[in-house]
Amino acid sequence: MQPPSVPSYSSGLVWFRRDLRIEDQAALYHALTQCQQVYCAFVFDTDILAPLPRADRRVEFIRESLVELDAALRTLSGHEHGGLIVLHAAAADAIQDLAATLDVQAVFTNHDDEPQAIARDSTVRTRLAAQGRALHTFKDHTVFERNEVMTQAGHPYSVFTPYKNAWLKKVDAFYLSSYPVERHAAQLAPRPAGLCKPVPTLAALGFAPAGLAQLRIPTGSQGAHQLLADFVERIDKYEDTRNFPAIKGPSYLSVHLRFGTISPRLLARTAHERASQGSPGAATWLSELIWRDFYFQILYHHPHVVTDSFKPAYDAIAWETGPEADALFTAWCEGRTGYPLVDAAMAQINQTGYMHNRLRMVVASFLVKDLGIDWRRGEAYFAQQLNDFDLSANNGGWQWASSSGCDAQPYFRIFNPVSQSEKFDADGKFIRRYLPQLSGLSNAALHAPWKAKPLELQAAGVQLGVNYPLPIVDHDTARQQTLARYAVVKVA
Ligand code: FAD
Repeated sequence: MQPPSVPSYSSGLVWFRRDLRIEDQAALYHALTQCQQVYCAFVFDTDILAPLPRADRRVEFIRESLVELDAALRTLSGHEHGGLIVLHAAAADAIQDLAATLDVQAVFTNHDDEPQAIARDSTVRTRLAAQGRALHTFKDHTVFERNEVMTQAGHPYSVFTPYKNAWLKKVDAFYLSSYPVERHAAQLAPRPAGLCKPVPTLAALGFAPAGLAQLRIPTGSQGAHQLLADFVERIDKYEDTRNFPAIKGPSYLSVHLRFGTISPRLLARTAHERASQGSPGAATWLSELIWRDFYFQILYHHPHVVTDSFKPAYDAIAWETGPEADALFTAWCEGRTGYPLVDAAMAQINQTGYMHNRLRMVVASFLVKDLGIDWRRGEAYFAQQLNDFDLSANNGGWQWASSSGCDAQPYFRIFNPVSQSEKFDADGKFIRRYLPQLSGLSNAALHAPWKAKPLELQAAGVQLGVNYPLPIVDHDTARQQTLARYAVVKVA
């Protein structure tokens, strides 16, 4: 990680994407150590933005984080005209044009291993090469990526536990150390006059505010560090608290990991050090970060998972389709299934863009194994709603729940939405927060209101079928249907 003694280029451009920070940023560090002058840019990619709803929490999160990044770059550079060049165009065109306008010799960026991003970067590389410019890319988004953790036979892992063991065996201070970006800040160049503009407003991008401030979702590196500082106080208890959605157990850092407002190396180092000192909570949290790396390398090695089951036999399953299935799917999306934990979880994702991990598993299982609906429809709905939507983890989570994934739960393991509710929200605090119409029910009745005595329902002001739905399926019947549906897999 030592900078070369002689800069290789007179000028370079850092293209920020899912790494919106200056601290421990691989591409920025390499540019600063290889170029005499470094420009920094971000492109609001019209190809990515086009299909999004006009009020999108992710777009607002990115925009707010860019305002902070721009200011941080200006401070770091010490130039009044330092900072981030922010464009709004098709990314491949914008980077090609900007590289030509600035006449840089090389563009520096970090790996993005989603199939569409790989294709885009390949186009950019070809176009830059045609202009005589280089594209340099780096690992930044994970601790280990691509072929770094492989089996002894040289194959990618498809089962998590051996992957995790190999990951832990390989990790050391080198892999967890930070890039000392700040040391090389003198290389940051002022922006040329025509490009020295503030970050565009949401309106200029064609978007409306999506309520991040009301949701108190902190943005940018400062927001991420605030969440980390809070979580570090709780990390030792993570093992005991992480499964209960009413408790502040997890870190809530996922959106920051997604957009790179915090370094994954810093997080892994924090967890690793604490785990080595004997904290079981930190060891479990580190495992979650390893799951993140695991799913990134699955997507990289098996891009077919974007459209197909990891295990091809599972694509023989006949899912429910047609108007009745569509109505069930809509009821699931809108939190109208009649199963309070499922409905409260869907209210959480719809209102905040976040859903607790335990609930992601419960609602995914419900859609696939209680309603018989193709996991891809649920995956697509999560992709629209989640602030932290990441193709690799989302696809991994859905294929896990549907049993079609690389290291998934067995097909015959079917979550019971009522016992999950009794176990993980026993006193109903989470359900009452998101379904206030049920708040007057006793804890015993809350998890399955249709079993409550009419008098209790009446006293609590609950009218089933009026202000709260009756269950849209019977779990025991659905369970039998699912076992039959999955029989094709057993046979295969
Ligand atoms: P913490 O418990 O604090 O975990 C720390 C970090 O570890 C997370 O921020 C995340 O980056 C990583 N992590 C935790 N669990 C997993 C996991 N199972 N797989 C991969 N990484 C993990 N996570 C996403 O980041 N984006 C998604 O789009 C996404 N979709 C999911 C869909 C389904 C159906 C399921 C079951 C899980 C999904 N997850 C996804 C994983 C997990 O639910 C979230 O990462 C977690 O709830 C985020 O909250 P947190 O930051 O408070 O987590």
